[in-house]
Amino acid sequence: MELTVQDIVTWIEKANEKMQANKEYLTTLDQEIGDGDHGINMARGFQEAAAKLADNDYPDAEAVLKDTAMTLMSKIGGASGPLFGTAFLKMSVASKEAETLDYETFKHGLKEAVEGIKQRGKATEGEKTLVDVWAKMADLFNKETDFSADKIADEANDAMEQTKDMMATKGRASYFKERSIGHIDPGSASSQYIFTALAEVIGG
Ligand code: ADP
Ligand code: MG
Ligand code: MG
Repeated sequence: MELTVQDIVTWIEKANEKMQANKEYLTTLDQEIGDGDHGINMARGFQEAAAKLADNDYPDAEAVLKDTAMTLMSKIGGASGPLFGTAFLKMSVASKEAETLDYETFKHGLKEAVEGIKQRGKATEGEKTLVDVWAKMADLFNKETDFSADKIADEANDAMEQTKDMMATKGRASYFKERSIGHIDPGSASSQYIFTALAEVIGG
């Protein structure tokens, strides 16, 4: 597996398409256990990021991931903006001017991204947040060496589904206590789109 600068641009474009197509759905999820803005936040952030990347030329993976991070951080807003921003920033730092992201670098970057999200959100696995999807994906990339696009998409979907039975202990959903059980975490749903988009890029 290898990701070129163009692959990363395509990744963000595809993620953006999914955020636009599922904007209402993400908002519905956030209406159930939050304040109902997650679809709007993600659609705005990824729209801006995709537009930014289309307008610029980048010398390496570090630069394109950094611009993605900065745009997501400032445009998504809410609790999730800084978390998605941190994830892409950690991946940028880990890729150190590499022209293309090789598998080793990518999986290391993903691990760093999870650490960054956890630190920033003071959250860990099982708290019904986007950490549940990102951590599962980092584990997948770090444990397996041979995986298909289907495997990546399935794993992301499973991780998202698993948040349904959890009780939220971080973020707005935690105000709902036991009543948060039975609903998919909005940030995990949007994260699942990010990884499904990645699977499409990897799968060709
Ligand atoms: P807000 O809650 O400020 O309206 P969003 O609706 O955009 O922000 O994002 C909500 C999502 O952010 C949640 O579904 C959850 O996945 C994630 N989230 C919120 N707080 C935290 C946290 N402390 N750690 C990790 N993820 C969090
Ligand atoms: Mg919200
Ligand atoms: Mg909000």
